[in-house]
Amino acid sequence: MIHYKNTKAFAQEMDANDPLAKYRKQFHFPDFHEKEVIYFTGNSLGLQPKKARTMMNEEMDDWARYGVEGHFMSRRPWYAYHEFFSEKAARLVGARPDEVVMMNSLTTNLHLMMVSFYQPSGQRNKIICEGKAFPSDLYALESQVRFHNLDPDQTIIELHPREGEHSIRKEDVLATIAEHADELALVMIGGVNYYTGQVFDMEAITKAGHDAGAFVGFDLAHGAGNLHLKLHDWGPDFAVWCSYKYLNSGPGSISGAFVHERHHKNEELTRFAGWWGYDKTTRFEMKKGFRPIPSAEAWQLSNAPVFAMAPHLASLELFDEIGMEALRKKTRLLSGYLEFMIDELSEKAEGASFEIITPRDWKQRGCQLSVLAHGMGKNLFNYLNDHGAIVDWRDPNVIRMAPVPMYNSFTDVYRFGQILEGALKHLGKSTLAKEV
Ligand SMILES: *Cc1c(COP(=O)(O)O)cnc(C)c1O
Repeated sequence: MIHYKNTKAFAQEMDANDPLAKYRKQFHFPDFHEKEVIYFTGNSLGLQPKKARTMMNEEMDDWARYGVEGHFMSRRPWYAYHEFFSEKAARLVGARPDEVVMMNSLTTNLHLMMVSFYQPSGQRNKIICEGKAFPSDLYALESQVRFHNLDPDQTIIELHPREGEHSIRKEDVLATIAEHADELALVMIGGVNYYTGQVFDMEAITKAGHDAGAFVGFDLAHGAGNLHLKLHDWGPDFAVWCSYKYLNSGPGSISGAFVHERHHKNEELTRFAGWWGYDKTTRFEMKKGFRPIPSAEAWQLSNAPVFAMAPHLASLELFDEIGMEALRKKTRLLSGYLEFMIDELSEKAEGASFEIITPRDWKQRGCQLSVLAHGMGKNLFNYLNDHGAIVDWRDPNVIRMAPVPMYNSFTDVYRFGQILEGALKHLGKSTLAKEV
């Protein structure tokens, strides 16, 4: 194990030995701030890869040059634009290329997947999800339940941590699934909880859900580009993710969907269909009667929104070049360094402390650490922000921060520690000195 040190020299040495350090230069860092920012909100909106603008301009140029003929004549023909993503997106989430498709936005895809994979029948109508799920997921679940004329309160079963704990225990997840085996229609969980940063054991949950006779799906908004996923082997029925958080593809950008191959030939599956999911060889005969493409593409409704997708292509090229294994390796070191820094400062604090609510085991977390700032209010957040540390605050006192392996450095973490220490002194919470 690494012996971390709270020194500039240590951070610089880690950066010098970091094989991914060179990628930092390929991103734009916000410069509206007086100081050089420490950007720890890649879990919320990833930074812009410099290549994104180039790819976007190429599409603009081709639109100007070709008009409608760009569907076939542009350098990346638009009629099959989504196909340029299949292999890269598949490698990113550990799937086969025909199991993934980039389309729509995340919540839209969650709905489309639930139309197919939430099929309540008789007493088998319950959904298990995590408590404190992301609000959009909650609303999607509630409204899907209502769509089937059921009552959300009677139908949705939430998983919660035990009293005094912050993470949901795996044994409790599995026990809840087993307990409701006779009435379970769907298990739908965020692979990484957005609030605590806890990573769930997706393989075990999939197996338990299937053993109970239910479908299993994951929302990987905080998982894609953060974890080393193996969706095909783990075997969930579906997964969805967005591309603007860890995947650095721009605000509201395109979303991904995974449908396991076992469902590709099932033409009976209920779905909401559109012409871009129709068998490619006969699509332009424009006939009645939907004939699904035997792949995840069958869930596509519309032709590709090229301008939302171009930045994602630029971003996926970087992920593909580096690979999730290397990214994950650095995540372990980088989040470990931040954890060390926060623990050390918590010890120096007086009348205040930092409590990390993200699991300590690196296998149960990704880049994000969520920290309860006891004895400190929003002043702490304001101080951090004013000093160039861009983190995320959730009332009443949780700070979420995510150093990401593609563009953050160990020196970022060191500098963050310096600012955090300054904040403790400024707020009169440090044993070292009351004033800076
Ligand atoms: C970010 C996030 C969303 C956002 O949904 P959009 O449809 O992209 O606005 C939904 N669910 C989870 C779990 C998220 O983290």
